[in-house]
Amino acid sequence: MEQNSWHRLGAEELQRMFSVHLQKGLSGEDAAERRKQSGQNELSEGKTVSPFTLLLNQFKDFMVLVLMGATLVSGLLGEYLDAITIIAIILLNGALGFVQEFRAERSLRALKQLSAPTAKVIRDGKSEILPAKMLVPGDIVLLESGDRIPADVRWLECSALYAEESALTGESLPVSKHSEPIHAEEIPLGDQKNIGFMGTMVTRGTGRAIVVRTGMDTEMGKIADLIQNTESQETPLQHRLEQLGKILIYVSLGLTIVVVAAGILHGQPATAMFLAGVSLAVAAIPEGLPAIVTIALALGVQRMIKRKAIVRKLPSVETLGCASVICSDKTGTLTQNKMTVTRLWTGGRALAVTGEGYAPAGQILEKGRAVDLKHDQSLRRMLQVGALCNNAEIIETFPSELRGKRKGKDKVNELDKGPVTPSVWELKGDPTEGALVALSAKMGLTSQSLAVSYSREKEFPFDSERKLMSVVVGHPGGRMLCTKGAPDVLLSRCTYMLWDGGVVPCTPTLRQRVLDANEELASGALRVLGMAYRDMRPNESANSEKEAESQLIFIGLAGMIDPPRREVRDAISVTRRAGIKTVMITGDHGATAEAIAHQLGILQRGGTVLTGSQLTRMDDDELDKVSDNVYVYARVSPEHKLRIVKSLQRHGHVVAMTGDGVNDAPAIKAADIGISMGITGTDVTKEASSLILGDDNFSTIVAAIEEGRNIYENIRKFIRYLLASNVGEILTMFFAMMLGLPLPLVPIQILWVNLVTDGLPAMALGVDQPEKDLMEHKPRGAKENIFARRLGWKIVSRGLLIGLCTLIAFWLTLRIAPGNPAQLVRAQSVAFATLVMAQLIHVFDCRSSRSVFHRNPFQNKYLVLAVLSSVLLMLAVMYLPLLQPVFKTVPLNFREWCLVLVSSGIPTFLMGAGSVWGGNRKRSRNRPMIKSTKISA
Ligand code: ATP
Repeated sequence: MEQNSWHRLGAEELQRMFSVHLQKGLSGEDAAERRKQSGQNELSEGKTVSPFTLLLNQFKDFMVLVLMGATLVSGLLGEYLDAITIIAIILLNGALGFVQEFRAERSLRALKQLSAPTAKVIRDGKSEILPAKMLVPGDIVLLESGDRIPADVRWLECSALYAEESALTGESLPVSKHSEPIHAEEIPLGDQKNIGFMGTMVTRGTGRAIVVRTGMDTEMGKIADLIQNTESQETPLQHRLEQLGKILIYVSLGLTIVVVAAGILHGQPATAMFLAGVSLAVAAIPEGLPAIVTIALALGVQRMIKRKAIVRKLPSVETLGCASVICSDKTGTLTQNKMTVTRLWTGGRALAVTGEGYAPAGQILEKGRAVDLKHDQSLRRMLQVGALCNNAEIIETFPSELRGKRKGKDKVNELDKGPVTPSVWELKGDPTEGALVALSAKMGLTSQSLAVSYSREKEFPFDSERKLMSVVVGHPGGRMLCTKGAPDVLLSRCTYMLWDGGVVPCTPTLRQRVLDANEELASGALRVLGMAYRDMRPNESANSEKEAESQLIFIGLAGMIDPPRREVRDAISVTRRAGIKTVMITGDHGATAEAIAHQLGILQRGGTVLTGSQLTRMDDDELDKVSDNVYVYARVSPEHKLRIVKSLQRHGHVVAMTGDGVNDAPAIKAADIGISMGITGTDVTKEASSLILGDDNFSTIVAAIEEGRNIYENIRKFIRYLLASNVGEILTMFFAMMLGLPLPLVPIQILWVNLVTDGLPAMALGVDQPEKDLMEHKPRGAKENIFARRLGWKIVSRGLLIGLCTLIAFWLTLRIAPGNPAQLVRAQSVAFATLVMAQLIHVFDCRSSRSVFHRNPFQNKYLVLAVLSSVLLMLAVMYLPLLQPVFKTVPLNFREWCLVLVSSGIPTFLMGAGSVWGGNRKRSRNRPMIKSTKISA
């Protein structure tokens, strides 16, 4: 068969060609066998950086090359030991950089894997969700609105199915698909209406298809090179830091030149000054900064994954910390999406339903007495419609865990054999529909019993725009249209009503009674669905939903509880304290939404509820006037979401917006942080989003925001540490040269300080725990400078103090015997120890936005370990006889150690005391801080 002729074949030919049962699909073994031939269903990846190139890149830095050159020269001049040590340090530095970047790269790749696409496949007669890359030609796949088509497929069944194929054909409007063969030889892709192409989207309807081509054989594969995902994963902060890094290179080089020139002018030997200068430049340039930023981001992202938030676009990690409004869906995000029908209303009668969950156990009660369906035609019809116009299934399962326990128990006591193992009723499908299936099953109307008399002919799927779903079913007496949906919408399509067992015209009075009953159920926080039906004329075709869903007979209402998620109330109070507003946006009825918003504490005093129809009547200016005060948007359509996002953005908000359906994608894209649902979300929304909630839970958004804030603060912490350390190093040398003193540090010592302090402690700061009040202050501005909130001042002042204290310690030691070379070595050792210790003490300061005295220094175990190992390495350099000649050090005496500790501690002590004093004064003027609450992840 020619590769491009699948469109000409009918179902039987396809079945034969691919040797597959069109209902049961392939068997697992057959699929595995076929995969050996067809390979994985993947497009080949773009170029990736090999570890070797990554390693080489570490030594490409201009200053590192200069240092290597200079070392080579000094080696040639006879300073072998110096040369070897410097080269060793450069290699170590390179290795550290490599490890950092490699880890960062790997974490990024792992993240990509997490959001890899999946497909619903029928194998061995059962439907299962598999990674899309496992598909093989001949697989039978099920697709629905919002799915990305996982391979090139030939449609076998289509129900009102449309696909958006602009990526391939340029056609921006979704095209209608069908499953009939097309009898033409060569036809353009756009006309192959019975083929679904890999990478295109199903925008409406449902379908079943057979995979005909996979991986690089697909149409998308042919142009894979053109569409290679080149999206940059660099965050704005990374970009800004790169720019900053470039500026710092020039500043460091400039200062280094001044230091070298001053040294030479004051009589230092030119070669020694040159090497010192280059070493200083290498040390002062914060070359590790970008890698540590990436690691902090990547590790933070991994922490988020543990809290069930999957970041798809790295830049959103930064934006998360700035979020000032969260617009959240209600069903499933704020509520549990575990629906149970508890109340019914039909023909003016209010009924109660007993039973919990999806188990078909319970009764329908009227005034406390069980209803008998045999004598209740209206109720019977209502339950039938609910169960027929439905795609959900409830399945009885026997959890293996329970069975295990039972078995264990049996062994202990043979007599204690219970009659049945407890079973659990699980839902397959939409919870709203599952609740209706369970309701009917409680009264004996199971899908099996209904299938005896009714068979489905057509479906008009539910969509949140229309808020209705209909099916055409055939039965021995003819055909019937069953519709269910939002009561207010459904009622507008009804002209009759079931009342007292008969069909009566739907008068304004009766209509009002339905609306009142709907309002009454909804204000009790119930989600309400209406049910209607009509018999179809024998030759009626019902081509479109609009045509079909008219002149209906209204039957009644079903109210279902959907309890709020327990953890959400706390999460909402956390957001409130963190200056973040939570807005509920729901397709549900205003009264239901308002009741739940009250239960969760979303509706603030003075806050309002706006409905979709009110919103439609407003223009953008009018919306802007009220949007800051609206906490609940009810009965909205997905298109409203975009207007809401834009209006909030015009108010200067950084908006996080959730969504699950295919129509939510534009709003998710427009939001500053688009959030999709991991469980119920469609591929389209997932791809448009920057964050996926693994558990569809609102508290996960709050957890992600907390992590986002923490990551940013950690980045600020190690920038503060690294830059203050570098300023300290440069200023020590600079002051010494200006004052005509000898070199306070030799090149190897400078490089060593850089290696040890820039490495581990900085990385440990990148994974520091958040400060207690992280979620107690307003979000930072999206345009905030990284040096804002006095960070720049902290860096310069601390660098200055470290430089001065090191120099004073050096000078105090040197002046004991000026001009004596042995004393110079002692003084250099003192300066070396002082600089290292001052930096290692300072690293604890950096953990707090105030000072070291405000946090437990031992909380970050990585940091404690990093600092301890740095101290040990310093002592090794000073006390191991083997290393002393290499690092030009001598062991210090007690007095010298006292000098080192006092001078290295002074900067922290001075700044800390200042902060405590300043803080006390401020606190006595301000009100007390609010105590923080931990959000459960
Ligand atoms: P959220 O956006 O908070 O998730 P939602 O899930 O309640 O809101 P939709 O799914 O758009 O919003 O539902 C809107 C209304 O449509 C519901 O209030 C209900 O009356 C009706 N509805 C929901 N699911 C179905 C369905 N499967 N069939 C028919 N009608 C439905």
